[in-house]
Amino acid sequence: KNIPVITIDGPSGAGKGTVCRLLAEQLGWHLLDSGAIYRVLALAAIHHGFAADDEESLAALAGTLDVKFDVEENPALTHIILEGEDVTMAIRTQEVANMASKVAALPRVREALLRRQRAFKELPGLVADGRDMGTVVFPDAAAKIFLTASAEERAERRFKQLQENGIDAKIDQLITEIRERDERDTNRSVAPLRAAEGALYIDSTDLSVEQVMDQILQFAHGRL
Ligand code: C5P
Repeated sequence: KNIPVITIDGPSGAGKGTVCRLLAEQLGWHLLDSGAIYRVLALAAIHHGFAADDEESLAALAGTLDVKFDVEENPALTHIILEGEDVTMAIRTQEVANMASKVAALPRVREALLRRQRAFKELPGLVADGRDMGTVVFPDAAAKIFLTASAEERAERRFKQLQENGIDAKIDQLITEIRERDERDTNRSVAPLRAAEGALYIDSTDLSVEQVMDQILQFAHGRL
């Protein structure tokens, strides 16, 4: 089956979420927010009281995780359901993000989540948002993007996003946590954060969402 995939990888706060939603909307394609899957797993692990390095329990949990994405017409309104409970907002806290980046460093956890992520690839196409979409999960993707921005800019964007969701945050702490998470995501042994071969590299620090979208659409256009 020739189902087109566009992958967008990059560090947290680079604007992947916004850009992927817009792309999925414009193209009428499915959207995979792979970070949300790691976050749901992290939340479930916290609920179960599992330690962040308990690879066996976490991999087993990843394999059996009862998570559903209630997709609406507008991908921005997708609800994430864990064991029947709406966790759309609960997975957006810093605590969950930090736990997510720890469990995401475990090879058996990543392995257990592969099939679940690949199942999102359906007609008419998929926009996949994550860290290893182009390198590991969808190596055959038609168009691969690596989207990044400076740590300060990303912390600022995350700050605004959290505020909009009514979540309290301190900018200094956000910068520190973003650096720590970058460090973990970049230096882990399995599926480290890096640009896939042939990916379009975009530094969005001084770009608007529209400018980023233009670059991606132009790049993807020639490849699909
Ligand atoms: O993108 P988001 O901030 O929601 O991702 C949360 C964490 O999940 C990341 O810090 C990263 O450690 C992990 N992740 C990953 N691979 C992906 C997506 C997310 O390791 N494809």
